[in-house]
Amino acid sequence: MASAISFEGVTRQFGTVRAVDSLDLEIAEGEFFALLGPSGSGKTTSLRLVAGFERPSAGRVRIFGQDAGATPPYRRPVNTVFQDYALFPHLNVRDNVAFGLRVAGKPRPERYRAAEAALEMVKLPGYADRKPSELSGGQRQRVALARALVNQPKVLLLDEPLGALDLKLREQMQEELKSLQRSLGITFVFVTHDQGEALSMADRVAVFNEGRIQQVGTPVEVYDSPATPFVADFVGSSNVLPSSIVARLTGHRHPASLRPERIRLAEAGLAATVTGASFLGAATRLFVEAEGARMSVLLPKGALVPDTGSEVRLDWDADALHVMTGAQDG
Ligand code: ATP
Repeated sequence: MASAISFEGVTRQFGTVRAVDSLDLEIAEGEFFALLGPSGSGKTTSLRLVAGFERPSAGRVRIFGQDAGATPPYRRPVNTVFQDYALFPHLNVRDNVAFGLRVAGKPRPERYRAAEAALEMVKLPGYADRKPSELSGGQRQRVALARALVNQPKVLLLDEPLGALDLKLREQMQEELKSLQRSLGITFVFVTHDQGEALSMADRVAVFNEGRIQQVGTPVEVYDSPATPFVADFVGSSNVLPSSIVARLTGHRHPASLRPERIRLAEAGLAATVTGASFLGAATRLFVEAEGARMSVLLPKGALVPDTGSEVRLDWDADALHVMTGAQDG
């Protein structure tokens, strides 16, 4: 698959802060790619480097193989959907969506036709005459999307586009964005700090921490085989067993990740003390401590929840324990 975006040793420094630190990454044409990480980890800066709103302090960004260094934002084949949507309050929906085409000097009938088609794409026909203030948050989000799509970008950059929506609407928009991306076949690069969102939508995910990528992989790879304790904890808040326990169980002197839903309470296994429990609705999270390591166990609905302070034994299938052979105890 041809490369849409590539970062080659890219660093972006602000004073003493390395927002992005020696980044190497390839995003293929047609991928739905998520940049996932906590606040301040460098995701937005990476996106802005592709859009051209930031320049690398070192290294190179290529877009479809070409060094983007000297190309201004408006001449790059990319469009950005911002978290706050950045709609013009005094323009109606049609003119907001058609704005980019107006700047490009397209005649009115053509830009309005294109705007209608884009509004159709985001399932918002019939709203063209409204002002942004007369729309719900979800509808504004769709207008922002239509405004980016009307320019027919080859790459769409989305910076936490669902951040302002409530959970139900978020889930609906996740589905819609995914199917829109599939039908358009263009590359989507999506910034989020929400691991559930990244796992459910993306073809591949890059997990960021402190300006660096910790792991790149499919959602299944990142979830089932985290490369580092940071990824194990950030993606799905896994248990990280210290190398002392792992060495005794497996012989490997490395920490290991063990998902809470893979652990069961059993007659025999790792001895642990229950330190608390929290009811989650569909399941109960049990907090335990084993040889100084704090862990959590997801108990299915209806399972007996042992009292705080009681002694339990933890068991799991052999393939549930993922030894992080490249990592040391944190
Ligand atoms: P969030 O999810 O909070 O948006 P992020 O992962 O997108 O976080 P960035 O916005 O890329 O993170 O920021 C990375 C680091 O660079 C942060 O420490 C931030 O304070 C710093 N930074 C970003 N932009 C600037 C700037 N223009 N000037 C100075 N520092 C900046």
